[in-house]
Amino acid sequence: MTITTFNPPVRTLMGPGPSDVHPRVLSALARPTIGHLDPSFSTMMDEVKTLLQYAFQTDNQLTFPVSAPGSAGMETCFANLLEAGDSVIVCQNGVFGGRMKENVERCGAIAIMVEDEWGKAVDPQKVEDALKAHPEASVLAFVHAETSTGALSDAKTLCALAHQYNCLTIVDAVTSLGGSELRVDDWGIDAIYSGTQKCLSCVPGLSPVSFSERAQERIKQRKERVQSWFLDLSLVMGYWGNDGGRSYHHTAPVNSLYALHESLLMLKEEGLENAWARHSMLHQALKAGLEAMGLSFIVPEGSRLAQLNAVTIPSNVDDAVVRKRLLHEYDLEIGAGLGSLAGKVWRIGLMGQSASASNVMFCLASLESVLNDMGATINTGVALPAAQKATFG
Ligand SMILES: *Cc1c(COP(=O)(O)O)cnc(C)c1O
Repeated sequence: MTITTFNPPVRTLMGPGPSDVHPRVLSALARPTIGHLDPSFSTMMDEVKTLLQYAFQTDNQLTFPVSAPGSAGMETCFANLLEAGDSVIVCQNGVFGGRMKENVERCGAIAIMVEDEWGKAVDPQKVEDALKAHPEASVLAFVHAETSTGALSDAKTLCALAHQYNCLTIVDAVTSLGGSELRVDDWGIDAIYSGTQKCLSCVPGLSPVSFSERAQERIKQRKERVQSWFLDLSLVMGYWGNDGGRSYHHTAPVNSLYALHESLLMLKEEGLENAWARHSMLHQALKAGLEAMGLSFIVPEGSRLAQLNAVTIPSNVDDAVVRKRLLHEYDLEIGAGLGSLAGKVWRIGLMGQSASASNVMFCLASLESVLNDMGATINTGVALPAAQKATFG
């Protein structure tokens, strides 16, 4: 076997992440690697922190990217805030709420589950009932944007409820950051984690996190030290902290952080609210096209995510064959259903750079061509005009 340089195909990424990465971000990755304790690297790290505070809409000092993917940000929040025996109310309305439960239990804490049907938003009434019934609970954890179903939950209302019952909040914003309205300080979020490969359109492998004063206070009062050495915030902060002298904890992923710096800068240049509006406008266009074709959304209107569109698969076609043909014939990636929705839905992502008018039209045209060729029962010739009208009037 002769191994040669790996040249990946150029795809259009319209699945649940990673999303398309802009050439500006890719070229930032290719800049010279410098030492992670180099003074000029420290300056860039401070800028990353400031840009993240903007993206999260927070003044939290403890805001930085964990050097690992979104799942590590999740683990950082749970491992630092929980101790054995704590009770946590965990909302589950898809795959990622289930991972929160795993995290709680692995910390030796007790997960009190509030379950909602997959595809529905978290029901604040059920959460309030659980908070009332469990005065021993010290944390409420929920997923803001459930990527497995495309449902958006009302983070503002859920956080207000949690504080009314003296609970801290842990929020999964992996898919919402940069794509949906999110205001960490105004909404009173105590611990939040995200990922770089979704609406930030950066490369995978970093997890922005942020912790409120209340959360930091809770961490300081721990009786036991955090069981994970790598994710222990008291150690990581020696490196990311703003007390001047940076000390070695682990080698930061230097080039990936250049990429994050560039993608956050692009978000700042566009303006956070403009980015939210762009995602929502292009969701309307995609929706108009998909519905004209005859596909339907599984999430009720009003709690649909713009950046993750879960739609039904026509009954007479094979899910995997359609996705394979889109990939091979059009270099287009869309997502499969996860968990109980496997084989039942497609998940079409409009995340970050992937949320563009040209991607919407390309996706609709490719999907229509493949489905029509496979003899699916869909309406043809109507999707593109419907999307055109929704986008440009
Ligand atoms: C993608 C995702 C994660 C996990 O992020 P990774 O970077 O894949 O580890 C967690 N929660 C949600 C809601 C996600 O969409």
